[in-house]
Amino acid sequence: MDFGFTQDQELLKSSVASFVDREVIPAAARIDEEGRFPGELFRKAGELGYFGIRYPGTYGGSGGDNVMFALMCEELARGCMSLAASVVMQCLMGTSFVHRFGTEKQRQQLLVPAIRGEKIGVIAMTEPDAGSDLGAITTSACRDHDGYVLKGRKTWVTNASLADFFTVAAKTDPEAGFRGIDMFLVEKERPGVSIGKDIAKMGVRGLGTGELILEDCRIPADNLFGKEGTGFRNLQGILEEIRIMMGSLSLGLGQAALDGAVRYAQERVQFNRPIAKFQAISHKLADMATQLEAARLLVYRAAWLVDQDERDMKLASMAKLFASEMANQVADGASRIFASYGFAMEYDAQRYFRDARFLLLGGGTSEVLRGIIAYQMCL
Ligand SMILES: Cc1cc2nc3c(=O)[nH]c(=O)nc-3n(C[C@H](O)[C@H](O)[C@H](O)COP(=O)(O)OP(=O)(O)OC[C@H]3O[C@@H](n4cnc5c(N)ncnc54)[C@H](O)[C@@H]3O)c2cc1C
Repeated sequence: MDFGFTQDQELLKSSVASFVDREVIPAAARIDEEGRFPGELFRKAGELGYFGIRYPGTYGGSGGDNVMFALMCEELARGCMSLAASVVMQCLMGTSFVHRFGTEKQRQQLLVPAIRGEKIGVIAMTEPDAGSDLGAITTSACRDHDGYVLKGRKTWVTNASLADFFTVAAKTDPEAGFRGIDMFLVEKERPGVSIGKDIAKMGVRGLGTGELILEDCRIPADNLFGKEGTGFRNLQGILEEIRIMMGSLSLGLGQAALDGAVRYAQERVQFNRPIAKFQAISHKLADMATQLEAARLLVYRAAWLVDQDERDMKLASMAKLFASEMANQVADGASRIFASYGFAMEYDAQRYFRDARFLLLGGGTSEVLRGIIAYQMCL
């Protein structure tokens, strides 16, 4: 059994880490305060090749593995969750369907520029009345001689107002629950596409999140990803990667919160000694570090298994569940160590606390994940 990284994985981790230390960490508080999309850093991520890590050289990618992708997510999230979330959306959910099911023309027109960071691709599944229960979506896709007509309203769409193209979940068969869902490519310039209101959020404030409205939006038959009736199955095909990716983001946030708390505990003096010298504080930090390392083992192993082509939904769900809960506990622990200063906007502890909540949602809530793990245990 080998728990080490390859040379390529080590190299990637250290190069992303130095980008994060040099350019991302100094900008993170301002991005959050101003609640603005970090466009410059996003474009830089494109120039550095981050969007193409998972894709083959034919489309401008570098053909890296899932462990590399996990390491990149972790490092970016250590610096700024808003940037990290935008980058991973582009790398995975926003572009995967074009790569796997798009026509060659769609790949050249959308995937290739998205890998360079020149176009933005996002996913629109959630609706006002359908979050965890994707089978309850009401957006419809009706066949219309040479294509489909889409009608419905999506919400919580990451980067909706910036997107050039959307992967949209819609029902081709409204009676068939999950099995009636298909995934479609919708370009922003199609008649019938409009963007609704942006949602004001408590965390990941540099990440735009808004509505996509489809009013009799006509698309050609080629814009159906895969065969009709296979949308949900195809989505399942990237669900493990999505969960591992959310776990990786959790590792980065946990590390950032832990690093900040350790530094503060060594500097803050009460009763004539650094608070790190009180066992109550040092043991809390020891627990936080232990939880973080345990989450790393789960997330890296789940990513490594995907690279071995061994699909394990139970492990990927466990990795996301454990790591996202860990990130919230570590951010909470850090906030307690900072005490009043954990409440002050001047320190980063409050940002980690707010941003960590996002990790509990995408890729399945903890309640839903526990249900999936229990199901996989045949309970
Ligand atoms: C910052 C951010 C960005 C997002 N980006 C996107 C995006 O780009 N595209 C997109 O499509 N969506 C996106 N989402 C939406 C996200 O995927 C959903 O919020 C998530 O699926 C949960 O849905 P919900 O909020 O409607 O909660 P609900 O499904 O309504 O859940 C409410 C509560 O009920 C519990 N619950 C629900 N079902 C069960 C069950 N079967 N068993 C036990 N408990 C259950 C949940 O755990 C939760 O506690 C984003 C959300 C956020 C916050």
